[in-house]
Amino acid sequence: MRKLNIDFTLEKYKTLCETISNSSYTTFTFEQYFNQENPPKNCILLRHDVDRNISNAHKMAMIEQRLNLVSTYYCRTTERVFKPEYFQEIAAMGHEIGYHYETLDKAKGDVEEAIKIFSQELNAFREFINIKTVCMHGNPFSPWLNSNIWNKYDFRDFGIIGEPYLSLDYKDVIYLTDTGRTWADKNIRVKDVIKDKDHQKNNLLIGNISTTDDIINLIKEEQYPRICLLAHPDRWHGHLIDWTGELILQNLKNIGKAGIIWYRKNKN
Ligand SMILES: [Zn+2]
Repeated sequence: MRKLNIDFTLEKYKTLCETISNSSYTTFTFEQYFNQENPPKNCILLRHDVDRNISNAHKMAMIEQRLNLVSTYYCRTTERVFKPEYFQEIAAMGHEIGYHYETLDKAKGDVEEAIKIFSQELNAFREFINIKTVCMHGNPFSPWLNSNIWNKYDFRDFGIIGEPYLSLDYKDVIYLTDTGRTWADKNIRVKDVIKDKDHQKNNLLIGNISTTDDIINLIKEEQYPRICLLAHPDRWHGHLIDWTGELILQNLKNIGKAGIIWYRKNKN
């Protein structure tokens, strides 16, 4: 009988973490990485965008901690995510909490308003936790790109040392994301794309990567010196019921996103 191999479960995430732990890779938080004088070799950056619910992020954080890995959790300011007691607990495990900003969306494209909101929200985090890096949230249904505020302003003026979309050199880092509950389909990553020329190496790779087992094999091979893995905690569940609910929701969203891409392509 064939064993049922369900992907995107916390159990599977644990296997992924065990593989990293048994490899010669070292994990870095983004703050640690950006503080290095030269980009370290044999490193993995685990990035988590906490979009909907902090409690699943906490479960992932515990799995990582048990295996001596560190990662970065980018948190929104929404009611179900902005829970300072969780921030402090996750940070106490050695992980980094970052601010997942979406202020251009909130300001409906008004850059001056957006930077005001950015400053206020950043201060709200800093009442509870030290924040050194920020990462934009990409809402596929909004026409704005949140990182565009940095065309006019400089995040360093806010004591921020890096933004993964802008500060990582993707020529040197393999970037893999679970956006849309697959590691493969780049068509559904509306906002989660990096400038094309830097992305070429990744594109070649992406054809061979779709499941978490593929990622596990990639890590075992240790071919690439630097890997950034983006895993959204909302998409990894411990229970089958959660998992089916999320799968249905995700499939509906993917259909929506595919439609948006189709529309944008055909509009031009
Ligand atoms: Zn997000």
